[in-house]
Amino acid sequence: MQSADEGVHATGCVIAGGGPAGMMLGLLLARAGVRVTVMEKHADFLRDFRGDTVHASTLRLLDELGLGERFAALPQRRIESLRLAVQGVPVDIDLRRLPGAHKHIALVPQWDFLELLAQAAEQEPTFTLLRNSEVLEALRTGSTVTGVRYRGADGVTREMYAPLTVACDGRGSTLRTSMAFVPKSFGAPMDVWWFRVPRTEVDPAGLAGAMGAGHVVAMIDRGDYYQCAFVIPKGSDQRLRSEGIGSLHRRVTAVVPWVADRIGSVTSFDDVKLLDVQLNRLPRWYTEGLLFIGDAAHAMSPVGGVGINLAVADAVAAARLLAGPLRAGAVTTRQLRRVQIRRWLPTVLVQGAQKTVHDRVIAVAVSEDSPAEAPAAVRLVSRVPLLRRIIGYGVAIGPLPEHAPSFARP
Ligand SMILES: Cc1cc2nc3c(=O)[nH]c(=O)nc-3n(C[C@H](O)[C@H](O)[C@H](O)COP(=O)(O)OP(=O)(O)OC[C@H]3O[C@@H](n4cnc5c(N)ncnc54)[C@H](O)[C@@H]3O)c2cc1C
Repeated sequence: MQSADEGVHATGCVIAGGGPAGMMLGLLLARAGVRVTVMEKHADFLRDFRGDTVHASTLRLLDELGLGERFAALPQRRIESLRLAVQGVPVDIDLRRLPGAHKHIALVPQWDFLELLAQAAEQEPTFTLLRNSEVLEALRTGSTVTGVRYRGADGVTREMYAPLTVACDGRGSTLRTSMAFVPKSFGAPMDVWWFRVPRTEVDPAGLAGAMGAGHVVAMIDRGDYYQCAFVIPKGSDQRLRSEGIGSLHRRVTAVVPWVADRIGSVTSFDDVKLLDVQLNRLPRWYTEGLLFIGDAAHAMSPVGGVGINLAVADAVAAARLLAGPLRAGAVTTRQLRRVQIRRWLPTVLVQGAQKTVHDRVIAVAVSEDSPAEAPAAVRLVSRVPLLRRIIGYGVAIGPLPEHAPSFARP
């Protein structure tokens, strides 16, 4: 291998993207003694309007990694119940009966969570995080991926070679495009507007949601403000923006009347960010020398707020199955395939549940002629406590939760 000065480097595993999947995988592989380099295109993790929910299964994982106390010290809010009103029908999902030590979902700004993982990983001598470093494309020898070409913090383009490249670069994955891997899309009936409104101490804590008047609103308590997700019909962003900001105020207060006294703090559409909701999955998550995990393998809908946890669980499974081969310096496609097999079922189940909610609840709620009555499925859930407990378990813990591998435990 040539020297670093010539713009060519080598590592044991290169990870594109320092989101939940990339940072967790980097930490675990480093604890296994694998030389690992994470490349994150941003200088920091400070990006607003990203997922904030750390679910009970991830909280347990952090305990197993010896990071539970440090996580608990982060500023956070707790969600012990999910409250939703669908066309006036209340659906309260109580999480306090979950099995295990954590009977809640923690609301933590994603940047704090990622910074915690970065600090823990940086204690390992084999870990490197290259901030401000953007992966541009996969390097290939024949059909085998041998690393990445990237632009470093100094603007210089370099090459990094590794026996394994892991694409954790999110739903707009550059490596996916570079390799012409195309995910299968399951469609989505909605997009989401994100904005903030002030919150006072007497307002509802945790997560509040409401449906009605053709819209769905989820309000995430961040202490002195709510981060609001306002669901609009797919593709209607431009049309609704052209109606002016007063129209947004009216639409929001029609669903959540008690924010009428502060919705004026959203003064223009410059304060409103559009999320193009996607639900998709790659048929194959790997090729020789390359693995896709997290949103790069399966973009999640915001329904249930489970994307971080699924991304983290993918990383745990990948680390457990690949740390040994990586320490030996070579990973086969068969070993990569095992990661997909392990994570396929939970991904399919969660995305299937999200699609059902899209089709049965949200598509109905945001349709032009949204019915006055809540969908039958919602009325059933509101009446049957067992169904609400199953939903609570599915959201807060999820199918096939992953445990920390022994090599990553303190
Ligand atoms: C607006 C919004 C709200 C959401 N709310 C929730 C929620 O409340 N709870 C929840 O669990 N999930 C939520 N999700 C989903 C959740 O954020 C994702 O499922 C999860 O973050 C996926 O993790 P990831 O690591 O796979 O990808 P990402 O979190 O997307 O991370 C990818 C990382 O790669 C970096 N990157 C991208 N391209 C490159 C490149 N070429 N080179 C180097 N770095 C690159 C990005 O900067 C980013 O840091 C939300 C998603 C969105 C968009």
